Amino acid sequence: YQPLSEIDPEIKNIIDKETWRQFTGLELIASENLTSQAAMEANGSILTNKYSEGLPNARYYGGNEYIDELETLCRKRALQAFNLDPAKWGVNVQPYSGSTANFAALTALIQPNDRLMGLGLPDGGHLTHGYYTAKKKMTASSIYFQSLPYAITPETNLIDYAGLASQAKIFKPRLIICGASAYPRDWDYAELKKTATKEGAWLMADIAHTSGLIAAQELNNPFEYCDVVTTTTHKTLRGPRAGLIFFRKDLENAADLEKRVNDAVFPACQGGPHNNTIAAVATALLQVAQPEFKAYAKQVISNARTLAEALVAHGYRLQTGGSDNHLVLWDLRPIGLTGSKVEKVCDLMGITINKNAVSGDASAQVPGGIRLGTSALTSRDMRNEDIKIVADFLHRAVQLSLLLQKEAGSKLLKDFVRVATTPEEGKQGYLQV
Ligand code: PLP
Repeated sequence: YQPLSEIDPEIKNIIDKETWRQFTGLELIASENLTSQAAMEANGSILTNKYSEGLPNARYYGGNEYIDELETLCRKRALQAFNLDPAKWGVNVQPYSGSTANFAALTALIQPNDRLMGLGLPDGGHLTHGYYTAKKKMTASSIYFQSLPYAITPETNLIDYAGLASQAKIFKPRLIICGASAYPRDWDYAELKKTATKEGAWLMADIAHTSGLIAAQELNNPFEYCDVVTTTTHKTLRGPRAGLIFFRKDLENAADLEKRVNDAVFPACQGGPHNNTIAAVATALLQVAQPEFKAYAKQVISNARTLAEALVAHGYRLQTGGSDNHLVLWDLRPIGLTGSKVEKVCDLMGITINKNAVSGDASAQVPGGIRLGTSALTSRDMRNEDIKIVADFLHRAVQLSLLLQKEAGSKLLKDFVRVATTPEEGKQGYLQV
């Protein structure tokens, strides 16, 4: 055994710097979280050495007795974490990420060129839900399938369920996808199911962002109504980077759904599973099933509400006016700022956020808002009082951005904000705005 610091000091140094950045900065990216040391230990384990194409007890390689045990345990924990009856639901735990899980789910459910509908990207949907632009089909979900986005209503910024129903009546999709990357409210799965049933479409929920909150039973339950549910494992679920596909086993008209999903993951879309990741997912799912995780999920939501209220109290406009989940969409257009400007200023202050489109943006390239999430800060045990201070920092970042825009231009940013960019500078103090 030779440690990384001896074999490859360059990479060790990069890891050390990133560790320092994650632990000294304020992480407000809604799609990120801090997974546990235990999950990271499993992720960095010897399991990375093993090939295991296939499924438990049906592999293309020898030597998989322990890997079979691992994958079977991970599946069991995934069903337990979401309180699912193994007679009614199954799960594939092999997807490398949320995007591959989604493409595998589409491959399982529909044929090339079939029609699908997902929430439009500018309204909070994800790329893999059929996104395309006027110039280009951007993702496999629009290249290989015909896609029509549904939208949020301009007045309330809530999902336009009636609009979706009337579009679906004409478009006749084979699949409706719900779930989003930037939607601060909960979903009405019962309403979506009505439309899907009426039009003879599959209903799939991509709960990548909210899966931890759903597992903790803090949000509506998509498993009551959907045929397939996909998720990433690294957002509110707080695991390593990977994906899961849950499928119904009790459908009379699609008894083969289990085989379709499993075949779509391997061999259609993937090769050998990443067994180290599956082990880390299993560890994270064990943690999700504990009472502490329920308390964590409750606090994530409470923190997001506090953040929203504090920003509104400062006079800012939020899309939909608040939040039901872990994220807040902040519309900066009324104060004349772009999301990218504020993102840059926040970066210099050690606050990590991302620019995001808000409803009615003229161009997706210059988004008029930012997206904030409370999952990672809550993992660092921040409570409502801490979040109020974070909201004050954000207020100062925005005021500073306004000042720089008015007075100086962004090239002078570094003179206005003295912020540590190395551990050495960190020792001298940082975040002097
Ligand atoms: N689905 C949703 C709703 C997402 O927000 C994301 C990522 O942010 C994905 C899928 C894709 O996940 P991954 O980056 O793991 O491929």
